[in-house]
Order: sequence, then structure tokens, then C-alpha cells
Amino acid sequence: MKNDIARIQKHIGVTPDGIVGPRTVHALKLALGLPTATTPTWPSQAEVRSGKSIFGPPGCESELTALVPPYTLYFEGEPVRTIRVHKLIATHVQAALREVLEHYGAAEIRRLGLDIYGGSYNYRSSTGSSTLSMHAWGIALDFSPVANSYGTRAPRATLSHPDCERWWQIWESHGATSLGRTRNYDWMHLQFAGL
Ligand SMILES: [Zn+2]
Repeated sequence: MKNDIARIQKHIGVTPDGIVGPRTVHALKLALGLPTATTPTWPSQAEVRSGKSIFGPPGCESELTALVPPYTLYFEGEPVRTIRVHKLIATHVQAALREVLEHYGAAEIRRLGLDIYGGSYNYRSSTGSSTLSMHAWGIALDFSPVANSYGTRAPRATLSHPDCERWWQIWESHGATSLGRTRNYDWMHLQFAGL
């Protein structure tokens, strides 16, 4: 039994000590796509666009906060000191990035391009549409944009590869939605709003 547990622990990236503690339970939930105790539910895109959701109106810079990422992110090749997101998602973004660092480590983050940042707050429309993007509320983030451009689909989009599975599980455990995982386009993009 203990060996079976250790084998599962190894598979889900937890120290294989054969003891089912909170870290094992958390990692199991992530691996199975189950909600964790901290998984929040965010408003839908339509609710956000109404301007009446918890995120308020678009383009409201006083609702944004600058956070220092737990590992260095690069925007167009230059390290960024802070990233600006909506206040209400800041602790989740911070926690998710911390979990990414803990799971992958610096070398894997580099190799997978998880440190290539494509931006968050930006008052603009969605690609190919006249409706405002979730970026206009500071509740969307883009990563590794060149290899995961709007029209690049799986398996060409690098963030669709199996070694990025945990990356998405971590964001999803904070209630974020991936357009790549749900619609197979815009793999760079994740948002704290449902579809
Ligand atoms: Zn985006």
C-alpha cells in the first residue's frame, strides 16, 4: 500500500514518502482536475463586459495593482520588475506563479518558455473582434506569445504540450480559464473569467 502511494506521489510530483498528507491531496486534486479548497469561481466574460461584475468597468487603472513575480519574467526579451493586474486576482496570480516555480524549477521554466511574458493589463479589443478583451480589466495574462500566437493550434502551440499540463492545472486551480484548453486557439492567453 505504502509503495503504491509512493508510486502515485512520484507520478504527481510529490516527495514519495508513502504518507498521504495535505500536499499529496492537493497535488492529486490538481492532477485529476478537481477543484481545490482555494479554487474560486470568477464571473463570465459576458458579466465582465457588462461592467457590472466584481471587476467593475474596463480601463479602471485605480483597480490595478503591481506585483513582483516570484521568478523573473521577460517581456520582449527584457526582464520585467512588476506586472500589473486587477487587485482581485493579484493573490491568485502570485500564488499560481509561486506554485509554477515550485513544481518546475528555474531551468524547466526557461526551457518551456513559462518566463516569456506577453502582458496583462491593456485597454484593447479582443483579436479579430470589436468587443473588449479581458485584458482591458487586467484579468487576463499572456505567456510565450510567439510560440503560441492566436491562430497556432495544438500540437504546434508549445503550451499545448504534455509537459505544460501542470502549468494549466495550476492556473485552473485558481479558477482561470485557458482559451487554448477550451477552444484550441490563443494558447498564450489565460483569463480570470469564464466563457
Ligand atoms: Zn491574451
